[in-house]
Amino acid sequence: NVRVRFAPSPTGPLHIGGVRTALYNYLFAKKYNGTFILRIEDTDQTRYVANAEKYIIDSLEWCNIPFDEGPGKNEKFGPYRQSERKDLYKQYSDILINSGWAYYAFDTAEALDAERKGHEAEGKTFIYNWHNRAKGRLVNSLVLTDEEVQNRINNGDKYVIRFKSPQDEILVMNDEIRGEIKIDTNVLDDKILFKSDGMPTYHLANIVDDHLMEISHVIRGEEWLPSMALHVLLYKAFDWNAPKFAHLPLILKPVGKGKLSKRDGDKLGFPVFPLAYTNEETNDVSRGYKEDGYFADAFINMLAFLGWNPGTEQEIFSLENLIQEFDLKRVSKSGAKFNPDKTNWFQQQYMQSKSDTELTDLYLPILAEKGINKDKEFVQKVVSSIKERAVFVTDFWGLSSFFFETPTEYDAKASKKNWKEGTSELMQELNIVISSIEDFSSENTEKEIKEWITAKEIGFGKVMQPLRLSLVGKLAGPHLFDIMAMIGKEETIKRIENAIE
Ligand code: GLU
Repeated sequence: NVRVRFAPSPTGPLHIGGVRTALYNYLFAKKYNGTFILRIEDTDQTRYVANAEKYIIDSLEWCNIPFDEGPGKNEKFGPYRQSERKDLYKQYSDILINSGWAYYAFDTAEALDAERKGHEAEGKTFIYNWHNRAKGRLVNSLVLTDEEVQNRINNGDKYVIRFKSPQDEILVMNDEIRGEIKIDTNVLDDKILFKSDGMPTYHLANIVDDHLMEISHVIRGEEWLPSMALHVLLYKAFDWNAPKFAHLPLILKPVGKGKLSKRDGDKLGFPVFPLAYTNEETNDVSRGYKEDGYFADAFINMLAFLGWNPGTEQEIFSLENLIQEFDLKRVSKSGAKFNPDKTNWFQQQYMQSKSDTELTDLYLPILAEKGINKDKEFVQKVVSSIKERAVFVTDFWGLSSFFFETPTEYDAKASKKNWKEGTSELMQELNIVISSIEDFSSENTEKEIKEWITAKEIGFGKVMQPLRLSLVGKLAGPHLFDIMAMIGKEETIKRIENAIE
């Protein structure tokens, strides 16, 4: 029974690394007919951002990777916000206190700081574990008597609860992507499980919730790999079965070294967020893939390849294909370099594969905003004639405005080159020919006009270029006779007249 969770902390907008984690969890869940859970890890109140949860949920929705269980949805293992579960965690740290796997520590921040500095002065790193915990300078329930501990607690002394890392053990763990990992427990810190503010830390809440929510696989970013040993030990301490772990590779900067950051996007001009985001404190607006005009399926296809590949040459995968093909065994161990150009390539591929009807539905509201209310059939013909030159739906207008509006300007350079002495007279003559054409289909106008040009024994360009300038305003656009058929005889004649003046 596959149950996986995406467990973001609502500390700001979800960047593409977070969305990729959600995507891989989603694909894995769907592949095995499992459940994809959203859990909001908001135990750190100091970093809480009010609109972040909504942003996360909206992003998953736009990406078309909805959760099956989570805040407000199928809450059988809920609540799914850790802040709403906070009364639950203390009993679990108490269990570990009673079994000897955890202990109270009363050290002040100043005392810990002094300890750290003392170690540094001797060129050592301070690790709060068996090296130091029972030495006397540190104040905890491993050196105090039970009575002293009780007195301090009754006194209202501040304490934290720490995990008691085992001494001299080699912990052998398995990661679904990285294979066997060994760690010497002597290098582990006695991490805090329960804080003095009465809140659990990420580690405790995360393990308790994964257990209670019956999570089978923990799929998360590489930045959590160093926590894996503690998590495995916690499962052991509770005598619970641990889920399987899979740590995903980092997403790297397109140029240079290191993790992709928001600043790389600002510098090189691409978004690192799925949706645009306004920071409510600074009013800073960050760009989003959605608002920049990318299709969600192109974005998802691009994201799937950031750390995974199917082992074949195929690159275009619908969400259904991804679900079929996705395999943790094919997720790479090494970081994945982000390439914004590749995103555009995917976008272009998806643009070409979308149906004319779907694209028309996206274009109609843009036209309506410009006050243009042409019927759907007409707009669909327009779309089909221009889409091969478009990457974004927002390119459509620039590629097709002449289908809807009479040009009022003409490309100056092209006019100078193509509208010469005698051109106006020639165009006047052409207009007479056009008026007499009965069947105004693309094929027929092409036939009749070409016959006329041939009979006059002049070059085609002499007529075709000024005609294109008259109809389009520039030397671009689809097949000229298609344009004529679309705008009709009357409009064609009018545009030629306009150009002559
Ligand atoms: N709350 C952690 C985060 O923000 C979750 C890490 C995990 O998946 O265990 O990434």
